Amino acid sequence: MVRIAVRDDLKALEGYHSPQVSVRVRLNTNESPTAPPAAWHDAFASELSRLEWHRYPDRAATELRAAIAALHGVDPSQVFAANGSNEVLQTLLLTYAGPGRTIATFEPTYQLHAHIARLTGATVVEGERRGDFTLDLGEVRRVCESFDPVVTFLCSPNNPTGLVEPEANVRAVMDMATGLVVVDEAYGQFADWSALDLIDEETPLVVTRTFSKTWSMAGARLGYLVGPSWLVAELDKVILPYHLDAAKQIAGRLALRFVDDMEARVQLIVSERDRIQSAFDNMALHYWPSGANFVLFRPRTRSGRDTWQALVEHSVLVRDCSSWPRLENCLRVTVGTPEENNAFLYALQEVLS
Ligand code: PMP
Repeated sequence: MVRIAVRDDLKALEGYHSPQVSVRVRLNTNESPTAPPAAWHDAFASELSRLEWHRYPDRAATELRAAIAALHGVDPSQVFAANGSNEVLQTLLLTYAGPGRTIATFEPTYQLHAHIARLTGATVVEGERRGDFTLDLGEVRRVCESFDPVVTFLCSPNNPTGLVEPEANVRAVMDMATGLVVVDEAYGQFADWSALDLIDEETPLVVTRTFSKTWSMAGARLGYLVGPSWLVAELDKVILPYHLDAAKQIAGRLALRFVDDMEARVQLIVSERDRIQSAFDNMALHYWPSGANFVLFRPRTRSGRDTWQALVEHSVLVRDCSSWPRLENCLRVTVGTPEENNAFLYALQEVLS
């Protein structure tokens, strides 16, 4: 058998893994624990029944973009949508990264920023956060001055730490960055402020968002960014034609009719998250106060890997971050339904006592 060698720069690359184990309580991928409202299902089914499957979808996703633009009070030309915010990030990096260019991340943060940048052939400079995982502006200055990154990533709330980036930090990074600043707000609705308010035509700043979390539509694979229209026009040249299928365009457009339901889900998740954190206060573990729908924690009495395995034996799956750089012994739990959270807390208590 002849195996064809991959590109030299990809040889050492590891794939992005999120192990799926068959368990009763799955709290490992930061999805919404509940489905979209019944009225959304009805509206979607009705529009789907009239869909012209023999035709290509609207290539510009005009109605979807208009609905997203209306949600954020921006012009549709400032919105770019794709198959999950991962594809938004990939399109950004295909457009602005690539060989001979440098992108900057501040670790630990969402692994796909660096991973996709490497896939484009770009050099990744991983700046360090402080020991408590807050952003170190001195380090940002060092990275920007030494490496002149074409794209600088922030993530707020940050995955996997859950920390919200204060507005002053984002503004400071925008002042220091010489290239584009990307603020990944996949969990943006959980935070008390959004960098969306800083978007304008003159500023090289984009904010990425997703339908996978608060909109309860991880199965649809839909995400978007808001940014200057000149940048969106460049992305439109890079993305494949007809990348957003017709059903997905309908699904996303209709989801935005149910903002109140989405906000009610966010409130419930926030109160459940606070309940989990209060329970953590009484357990043998350290955690990082979260502004998202997940909490990063570090058991004190058992190793992270051991704890993860013992939780799986109780049919509870959390994310094992314990072998990730800078996250020794850490696990990340997604906030689920009250029943799922009870099952998780009960199991964790058993496992750590
Ligand atoms: N950004 C962050 C910070 C995430 O945590 C995720 C999902 N794990 C994504 C982007 C990608 O989300 P999606 O592709 O489902 O929109």
